[in-house]
Amino acid sequence: MNKIIMYGADWCPDCRRAKAFLKDQKIDFDYIDVDLDEEATKKVERINNGKRIIPTLIINGQSYTNPDNGKLSAVLGINEDYRIVMYGADWCPDCRKSKAFLTDNQINFQYIEIDKDENAWAIPLIKELNNGKRKIPTILINDDIVLVEPENEELREVLNIDKVKEAKIYDTIIIGGGAAGLTASIYAQRDRFDTLILEKKTIGGNAFLTEKIENYPGFTSISGPALMDKMEEQAKVYGATIKTGEEVISIEKKNDVFHIGTKSNTFLGKSVVLSTGSTYRKLKIPGEQELIGSGVHFCATCDGAFYRDKDIIVVGGGNSALEEGIFLSGFVRSVKIVNLLPEFSASETYIEKLKEINNITTYMNRTSLEFVASGDNKFKGLKVKNNESGEEEILEADGAFIFIGLIPNTKSFEGIIELNDRGFIKTSGLAQTSVAGIFAAGDVREGAIAQVAAATGEGVLASYGIRAYLKK
Ligand SMILES: Cc1cc2nc3c(=O)[nH]c(=O)nc-3n(C[C@H](O)[C@H](O)[C@H](O)COP(=O)(O)OP(=O)(O)OC[C@H]3O[C@@H](n4cnc5c(N)ncnc54)[C@H](O)[C@@H]3O)c2cc1C
Repeated sequence: MNKIIMYGADWCPDCRRAKAFLKDQKIDFDYIDVDLDEEATKKVERINNGKRIIPTLIINGQSYTNPDNGKLSAVLGINEDYRIVMYGADWCPDCRKSKAFLTDNQINFQYIEIDKDENAWAIPLIKELNNGKRKIPTILINDDIVLVEPENEELREVLNIDKVKEAKIYDTIIIGGGAAGLTASIYAQRDRFDTLILEKKTIGGNAFLTEKIENYPGFTSISGPALMDKMEEQAKVYGATIKTGEEVISIEKKNDVFHIGTKSNTFLGKSVVLSTGSTYRKLKIPGEQELIGSGVHFCATCDGAFYRDKDIIVVGGGNSALEEGIFLSGFVRSVKIVNLLPEFSASETYIEKLKEINNITTYMNRTSLEFVASGDNKFKGLKVKNNESGEEEILEADGAFIFIGLIPNTKSFEGIIELNDRGFIKTSGLAQTSVAGIFAAGDVREGAIAQVAAATGEGVLASYGIRAYLKK
């Protein structure tokens, strides 16, 4: 572990206070007496703009000047009954989810960003805790409980966080904090409707996972996270309430008020927007389930960084597969694109771009049969069959990314509103579903274009629906 360093002096009361606090918490630290070490004195002065202020602490490469015990608790994850250390990375959506959940519930935690050079020591530790796998977030509670990629419910249970029932009735509750939901909230708030966004993971939706967006009007090129951060900020500026880590599992209408149930809370609203988007489709072949997260992936932005200078396979032939294959080719050694059909279904722009890249090889007209692992369950490759010749071969690589389409996130709404045979929500007029007061917008809606610009447009449409409904 990256040791904590405290610069202090024995005559200094705040140094004694900070030392006692760390000792009481059984936190290891190196103590350097500035009176006995000239170099240390100079360092303290450098950190504090020429002033000799003690105690000065270095925690995870960051300096803290005379922090009180509250600040130390916040930085070191100390709470009344437990100390929490989270190992994660800023690019990891599940880490953002757990961070947001702990922050929303005012729980202190120490966050260790494993990608920072000074925290390189954390990677072997994570592997040791996860049977050799680099899984994040890995959360340590009191050094004995290890939670790996926990759902918020698990955190809630382990940390004994109370469940809440909100009495407030919102004008509209938006389920899903992607482009469609955020836009609906911006418009609704500007119409002076009190809006709550419930998001099961973190704000931003699928667009947040996209490295580069080049077709959202107003930006020649913008990263998905940057665009979605702007939308989130705008929703907040206009006063939307956002709750993350709240997965909606039930909707009930009682006396014109919708009771929206999540695993831990119930929220009340006069109207509802369903903007839950869609999820990656799986191949459903042997080996896939076992290797998910350790060789098989569905999100290039989330997991691509693990494959720097390695060989990967991309499965799919549509826009997402080609876009992500091209993105990954920028930093992996090689990409093998496996497509079931003889032709790509992606747009010409991507097909043309592909031709310019020399570390991508395409395998057309191939059925994916099985993910193959080595003896120690390490990803080895993908067995494919040539649909024309019937010949089978194993394409070797270090990992695979699957981009073969999307399934609408409507499981919780079955039996409540009308869905089409593929599970997408049927709407009419101003994004109106089959239940008065419930609207649908974005990728979850039947006929959606599945683009960010289209999703924002649908959010606007839903907000007009809300306005008409609430002003009746
Ligand atoms: C790999 C990839 C690349 C893409 N590239 C581009 C691009 O370059 N340009 C472009 O225009 N479009 C792109 N898209 C498409 C674009 O991301 C989507 O069209 C857009 O994100 C749809 O927005 P949405 O709000 O409808 O849904 P989403 O963005 O999917 O947001 C839905 C949100 O709802 C949440 N949710 C789901 N179920 C629940 C529940 N029960 N309770 C609470 N919350 C829930 C989800 O966690 C999610 O945050 C790409 C998509 C992918 C997958």
